[in-house]
Parts: sequence; C-alpha cells; structure tokens
Amino acid sequence: MQPISFEFYPPKTDEQRAQFDRTVRKLKAYGPEFMSVTFGAGGSTLSHTPETVQRLRSLHGVAGAPHITCVGGSREEIRTLLKRYRALGCDRIVALRGDLPSGMARSGDLRYARDLVALIREEHGEHFHIEVAAYPEVHPQADDAQTDLRHFKAKVEAGANSAITQYFYNADAYFQFVEDARRLGVTIPIVPGIMPISNFSQLRRFSAACGADIPRWIERRMAGFGTDDDGIRAFAADLVAAMCRRLLDGGAPGLHFYTLNLARPVQAVLQRLS
Ligand code: FAD
Repeated sequence: MQPISFEFYPPKTDEQRAQFDRTVRKLKAYGPEFMSVTFGAGGSTLSHTPETVQRLRSLHGVAGAPHITCVGGSREEIRTLLKRYRALGCDRIVALRGDLPSGMARSGDLRYARDLVALIREEHGEHFHIEVAAYPEVHPQADDAQTDLRHFKAKVEAGANSAITQYFYNADAYFQFVEDARRLGVTIPIVPGIMPISNFSQLRRFSAACGADIPRWIERRMAGFGTDDDGIRAFAADLVAAMCRRLLDGGAPGLHFYTLNLARPVQAVLQRLS
C-alpha cells in the first residue's frame, strides 16, 4: 500500500493525554510515514503543540510533524518555534495560514501560507520537508477555483515539498484538482486528507465551517440508520474505505488520516483496505 500518515490535535488534559497515548500506540502499528500535530491559530495551542511533539518523541519514539499557522503570529514567534522543533529532531512541518478565532483582531506579520513557506526556507534552507494544504472543493474564502489554484501554486513555488488536501467525500473533486494542478505545472505529491466518520453531527458542523461538502445521498443514508450506531459505523467505514481504494487505484500517492485522536474509526477503514 502507499504511505499513510496520521494527524492528531494536541491533548490538553490528563484524560485527553491518556487517550492520545492509546491512539498513537494503536496507529503506530500501521507504520505511518509521519504523525502530525495541529496548531491553533492565534496562539491557543502555542505551548500544547510543541509539548505534544515532545511527547511523541520521548514516549512513543516518533519524530512528529508539527503544524505551524502564521496568521496572528509574529515573525519572531515563528522563528522561535522553528528552532524549537529543529532541536526536537523534527524535519517535517505542515505550514498553514490558519484561521483566527472569531473576535480576535491580531493579524500577524505573515498574511498567507506562502509567506510562511518562504520564511521557513529563508531561515532553515532545505532542512524541513514542508507540507502545505490543498482544497479540491476550493477554499471557502477563495474568489473562484482558478484563483485558489494559482495561490496553491504560489505556495509550491515558495518551496513546499508536498501537499495534504482538506477532507472530501467526492473522489472526483480530488482527481480534477490534481489534473488542474498538473496542467499548471505543479508536480509535487498531493495526498488526499481522509476524515473517517465517527460522529456524524459533529462532522456536519466541521464541514459547514471548512467548506467540505457532504453529498446528499450520504446524509440521507445516515439519517436512515436512526439510532443504529453499529449500522452507522459500518456504513461509514465501508464508504470511506471504498473512496480510499478508488483514490489509490486512481494514483493518489498516499493517504493522510484526520484521526481526531480516535483509533477505532481509522482502524475500521484500514482493516477494510488491507
Ligand atoms: P493559504 O494557502 O494562505 O490560503 C488561504 C486563502 O487565501 C485561500 O482562499 C487562498 O486562495 C487565499 N490566498 C492565498 N494567497 C493569496 C494572495 N497572495 N492574495 C489573495 N488571496 C490569497 N488550521 C489551523 O488553525 N491549525 C492547523 O493545524 C490546521 N491544519 C490543517 C491541515 C490541513 C491538511 C488542512 C487542509 C487545513 C488545516 N488547517 C489548520 C486549516 C487552514 O488553516 C485553513 O483552511 C485556512 O483557512 C487556510 O490555510 P492555508 O494554509 O490553506 O492558507
């Protein structure tokens, strides 16, 4: 199978840390290429992300790939973080603009992910493998798909090595995006981001916020299960595994799983794929 990777959010309480550790242990068994740790724009996980990267290293023997967002942060804060991650043995960074929490006015020194990629290259040369975000269903703030794609290309030209997409449930959107990017001369690997389904109402909320489309037929099938949680879980895992199979058969260079720090929904998909 192609390489897989897993994304976690930084746990903040003892209970969350215990769950994080259990999930990392279970998913490490699948031999992921890397495990990444998200970062709250505006500094809400300023210390939790580095702590979690440190935890991955000291407790689990994994060199984590931290996410860094630039919106709301100063150049100096970002420089300090990069040095800290390098000292922790990290050689992969997921570089993002981020979204400021509503009501937060701080705009920061760097406006777009492209500027962050350029800063990382300026300060650290080729040390870090830089991942950037891609949006097969178009970033929600973009004027149109073509403009968004040109902005994506600018991040790649600034020095990104590969991209991870926002999650989607429509494989054709991914294939079209990759084809359009190739036509523009973008050659880096574009890895689909996969969101296994564990809690459908939470997924609906997430999707509305980040612009991911949940096809109507999936909504309708989910509704049909009523309170049959086992039925929902099995249907969701079959659906996501079938999409992953189609993506891999169609040339996707790997799969990046948004775990939400839960092992079971990811395992259910991976079992069906193996
Ligand atoms: P950009 O690439 O900077 O693009 C943002 C918007 O600006 C797009 O609409 C783009 O078209 C537009 N744009 C870009 N350049 C220009 C320009 N020069 N002029 C005008 N418009 C421009 N968020 C977090 O807060 N923490 C995380 O850890 C995190 N991890 C993520 C991981 C992945 C794999 C993905 C896909 C998303 C993640 N996000 C995270 C969400 C991300 O921060 C948001 O989607 C954010 O709105 C955009 O970030 P970006 O890096 O894609 O931004």
